[in-house]
Amino acid sequence: MTTYTKEIGFSTQGDDDVIDITPDVESAVKKAGLKNGQATVFVIGSTAAITTIEYESGLKHDIKELLDELIPKKRNWRHNSTWGDGNGHAHLRASIIGPSLTMPVVSGSLTLGTWQQIVYIDFDNRPRSRKVVVQIVGD
Ligand code: ZN
Repeated sequence: MTTYTKEIGFSTQGDDDVIDITPDVESAVKKAGLKNGQATVFVIGSTAAITTIEYESGLKHDIKELLDELIPKKRNWRHNSTWGDGNGHAHLRASIIGPSLTMPVVSGSLTLGTWQQIVYIDFDNRPRSRKVVVQIVGD
């Protein structure tokens, strides 16, 4: 059993910016050189999330619209009173979607579908410099 860990850094625009990080994760899996195991991708920070989606402009818009309905930005979230940073909705959206994704690695590749991309969604209310950790464990 071997463990390979890599940090991926990138910039976002904030405000529900959806970023396709699939090529970066695939590259980490190739570098790890492991045949079979698991890859975990983890968000560092509490106002962004990771999930999978078909990365196309319609769904990028739809997920933003859905989250605006479920967790509105303008509501009086108590977090905004605590810190005055106005990003209560970002923390809540990040918690609901979740900070990580674990995927099987089989024969040296991620087992993603053709229309399934790994996306990082930054919910914060300003542009950010971000990092995720990719950890691959296997043989
Ligand atoms: Zn905050």
